[in-house]
Amino acid sequence: MIFHVDMDAFFVSVERLLRPELKGLPVVVGGAPESRGVVAAASYEARRFGVHSAQSMSRALRLCPQLIRVSADHHHYGEYSKRLEVILERFSPVVQKVSVDEAYLDMRGTERLWGTVEESARLLQGTIGEELDLPCSVGGGANRLIAKIASGQAKPEGICLVPAGGEQAFLDPLPVGIIPGVGEVAGKALADMGIVVIADLRAMDEAELVRQFGVHGRELAARARGEGSMILRSREGPKSVSRETTFATDVHDIGTLRRVLARLLDRAAVSLREEGLLTGGVAVKLRYADFRTPSRSEKLATPTAVDTVLMPVARRLLEGLWDERPEPVRLIGVRLERLVTEGQMGLFDQPSQRWEKALEGVDRIRERHGHGSLRWGRELTGGDAGDGGDRAEGDGLREEP
Ligand SMILES: [Mg+2]
Repeated sequence: MIFHVDMDAFFVSVERLLRPELKGLPVVVGGAPESRGVVAAASYEARRFGVHSAQSMSRALRLCPQLIRVSADHHHYGEYSKRLEVILERFSPVVQKVSVDEAYLDMRGTERLWGTVEESARLLQGTIGEELDLPCSVGGGANRLIAKIASGQAKPEGICLVPAGGEQAFLDPLPVGIIPGVGEVAGKALADMGIVVIADLRAMDEAELVRQFGVHGRELAARARGEGSMILRSREGPKSVSRETTFATDVHDIGTLRRVLARLLDRAAVSLREEGLLTGGVAVKLRYADFRTPSRSEKLATPTAVDTVLMPVARRLLEGLWDERPEPVRLIGVRLERLVTEGQMGLFDQPSQRWEKALEGVDRIRERHGHGSLRWGRELTGGDAGDGGDRAEGDGLREEP
């Protein structure tokens, strides 16, 4: 079973260790309202007033006038985070930390050490409570998705383990909004389609979801079925994701190159999202008949996994290469580099916001060109015809030294 351990109101809990008088009170960690501060963490007492993370501090104070605000001390949180990691690594050899207060553990094969999954979850939670004096919740399931949703259901200070085969019964009654990646905008779009709980989503025709949400539609359908990755990466993740295609016959028109590039980028971005990664840079390369392989790259201001942000960058790089040498091309490749996990991003770059940005992009284009005009990457390639019959596709995440 995969465990997801998530500290409860982590920053607030650490602050309470230093200042016990904050216990039981509505407390937030975050910047001052005068400097347009944002809530980084809210105690459960504060959440009852509608206060939540990523909210502006001025709004939080309006909702809860007696709110106590504490400035963040990231050095301190980092120290507790390291101590947490040391504990987690005692429980499993395969631990993937996804943010300062969250990690996945692969518990398969640990039964002889820790007993049943119920026993090991209780022991893990108890150990963190004893050694760090911090509350956490533990979720467990057949894959990371189920484990993550389960820990959310267990909060605060709970344990929720979903037995193998019980995924559907667990997911079906839950609101679609708890699926990682479904934020306000996506939730509203789904509600407009009459989809409220995950059972509704699962009953939906996948083709219809793809029509509505493009590649995200496929991901959404898979998540509704409870499908997720079991692969944890301890410490080092892949440094880049590459996709390339060698043409059966050399291609010498920029239109075809653009279409193939769009498809390669689409695939690379899908695997990025599947792995919970964001890219901080894009590189495009062309190989010519003489095997010279020039490439161009661009660093992104903000890491992203959103196609509509990546596509124009990749196109610009392709056009730069083509302007320099408009000759027959035998191979084209795209590479997403400077990868970071979602957890490495700032406090406020939640996956739901990324998703919403992506959907906003779709919505904007639909507004301009009418519904049905945009279905993301693959459709932008104009189908498989005219690709020049690619035969050697380099797929897969690449681990690099
Ligand atoms: Mg947490």
